[in-house]
Amino acid sequence: MILPPRNASELRLLDTYGRVATDLRVSLTDRCNLRCSYCMPPEGLPWLATPAVLTDDEVVRLVRIAVERLGIEEVRFTGGEPLLRSGLVDILRRTTALEPRPQTMLTTNAIGLARLAEPLAAAGLDRINVSLDTLDRTRFRELARRDRITDVIAGLDAARDAGLGPVKINAVLLRGVNDDEAVSLLEFAVEHGYELRFIEQMPLDAQHAWSRETMVTREEILARLATRFTLTPDPTERGGAPAETWLVDGGPVRVGVIASVTSAFCGACDRTRLTADGQVRNCLFARSESDLRTPLREGASDEEIAELWRIAMWGKKPGHGIDDPGFLQPDRPMSAIGG
Ligand code: SAM
Ligand code: SF4
Repeated sequence: MILPPRNASELRLLDTYGRVATDLRVSLTDRCNLRCSYCMPPEGLPWLATPAVLTDDEVVRLVRIAVERLGIEEVRFTGGEPLLRSGLVDILRRTTALEPRPQTMLTTNAIGLARLAEPLAAAGLDRINVSLDTLDRTRFRELARRDRITDVIAGLDAARDAGLGPVKINAVLLRGVNDDEAVSLLEFAVEHGYELRFIEQMPLDAQHAWSRETMVTREEILARLATRFTLTPDPTERGGAPAETWLVDGGPVRVGVIASVTSAFCGACDRTRLTADGQVRNCLFARSESDLRTPLREGASDEEIAELWRIAMWGKKPGHGIDDPGFLQPDRPMSAIGG
């Protein structure tokens, strides 16, 4: 095994292509109360057994090691559905008290957010992304297989009122299902002061039903938006951000597209991922993981864990390889990795 150099990189998660991971995505659970068709099947998935899932203390310890020893500056909690994690507010309170304090974000379907937005903000949450793919109640019920759109809308309002702005909305467009809603979703976002980002559908669904032919591309999304809005490239520095952004009708409102498939941004990737069962993934599309839970439970020191994490990131591939003829989807779906 080739090990990362032990000098300048010691406090960083460096890979062999010179990228440094400063953004940690933590999945708090693989469970979910929706069944979005592009994510999981109607019957759900075989969930992780409770003993396999990191405890709150274990999550906090790993985030602390990442922040104190590995240069992590941003932490995003996700899932599955992170609001289902009963210890979420406490985990947030403890991880936002770390030094240096990480910027802390949450990606959620917003079911239960109307009740939780204030406690989350009080615990230190900085910003939030809410997933909403359609504004039509019937379509929502078909797409997410649950009749919960009113909870999502109430959650969005509560997040804004709790000061978690700018609240971002994530939307995935599916051909023949909701791809006619690009304009209305942006109108809704503009009207309510949310920042909308479209995500190209990725081959990360549990059913392996993704196909390039039916995927709605960045170009199509922009063409649809152009029928109603004037979009100009956002002059703000993009950095490692996955979303390419545009000013809407001259600004200040912006809209983004995360074109992971047709315009990959792997060269600027600054992310590392931790699954709910304590595995480090150096890429969403990685075909292997590095186990931190076992050493953690066997008494490894902070430095030993940090070293395992560095080694895991050192082996990161240059890109996701979706265009390679031999591309294989990762064994775990998005909901189990942490989107
Ligand atoms: N349950 C939370 C939610 O939906 O926001 C957090 C987890 S979810 C996996 C995170 C994000 O991944 C959501 O915005 C969702 O729309 C997106 N997502 C899930 N499956 C996807 C896929 N196959 N392609 C692109 N985005 C996907
Ligand atoms: Fe659940 Fe999020 Fe997947 Fe929808 S996208 S099924 S809300 S994990």
